[in-house]
Amino acid sequence: MDERLYYEDAYLTRFSAQVLERFSHEEQPAVRLSRSAFYPTSGGQPHDMGSLDGTAVVDVQVGADGAVLHLLAEPLPERTESVSGQIDWPRRYDHMQQHSGQHLLSQTFYRLLGLETVSVHFGEALNTVDLEGPSLSAAQLADVETAVNGMVWENRPIRAYWVDEEARAKVPLRRAPAVQGATRIVEIDKFDWSACGGTHVRRTGEIGLISLLRHEKHRGRSRVHFVCGGRARADAARRRGLLAETAGLLDSGVDELPALVSKQQEALKIAERELKALREGLVEYQARELLAAAEIVGSLRLVAEALNDSEPAAVQRLARALISEPGVVALLGCSRRGRGTVVFARSEDCSMHVGDLLRETLKQFGGGGGGRPDFAQGGGVAAEKLAAVLGAAVEAVRQAVGS
Ligand SMILES: [Zn+2]
Repeated sequence: MDERLYYEDAYLTRFSAQVLERFSHEEQPAVRLSRSAFYPTSGGQPHDMGSLDGTAVVDVQVGADGAVLHLLAEPLPERTESVSGQIDWPRRYDHMQQHSGQHLLSQTFYRLLGLETVSVHFGEALNTVDLEGPSLSAAQLADVETAVNGMVWENRPIRAYWVDEEARAKVPLRRAPAVQGATRIVEIDKFDWSACGGTHVRRTGEIGLISLLRHEKHRGRSRVHFVCGGRARADAARRRGLLAETAGLLDSGVDELPALVSKQQEALKIAERELKALREGLVEYQARELLAAAEIVGSLRLVAEALNDSEPAAVQRLARALISEPGVVALLGCSRRGRGTVVFARSEDCSMHVGDLLRETLKQFGGGGGGRPDFAQGGGVAAEKLAAVLGAAVEAVRQAVGS
């Protein structure tokens, strides 16, 4: 079997190896080496990136026979017998911080709350642990975060060593491993013992910081999202920036934000209530004014009005106020951003079909729309045509009633 150099030294970033085999894997050029410092995707930890003789290593997997497969961006030159490997260290170190932090976190959840980790996921941005048991409170999460960062600051050594089955029985493993035979133990000094083939930092202090970001219920378990090390630092900086930006928008200090936002929400609610009452009053007033000046056509009061810079919703409200009175036909329009909208409506006691009237009228001007016999809306005409559209509709009503 090929030698995995990261088992002995997770800090090794350069190595040389013999090329044992060159082949194609998943339609990509691949090689197997006599030894490798590249970590293949396994145990939840993502694979390393890097290069072999300058050729990019884009993926690293464990083959069916247990060998480490290095997938390359392009084939190595013919007759390459040995290569020099280079690990993408920032990516590897990030994974080491996340992975070591997870061991520490899982043991802390167990010791503080008796919650066992049932699964782990390391993502490109966020990591999660799923815990068996009831939902967590914010206070419990805060306690765990305090305790786990206390372990970071104690800067305890982290060691990896192999044990046979007999010796393994004496190791207080957090979870029994699925594999038989020789087992690699990763021990956080006198605190946590895990069966793990991953890469870890030398001391807990190198994890730097562990941040528990949020938690949720997931299939009857608690899922905790967390980040460690450089990611936790970057996340804190990002949140600080967002807070400062928000405080700037509100011309406030960060500490005053919650009280200020709460006060503004309350003020907005009051303003919205007042605005609604004013709008209703205005619509009633406008309706009275328009009805007082309405043209009398037979037994109808005919209102035709173009309202500039009004929302269609405001025009609809006015139309409803007008037809709440008996014997009214309302032909209203509004224009916004160069486009015209029309709303035709009539009182319940009238027989005219304003949906048909609207469709027929707009058709003459290249627009369209329709609706019920008593209420219709349409558009698709230029704003400057609005007066002509309403004029044509008024004429149609006069003729229909006169005939
Ligand atoms: Zn591990």
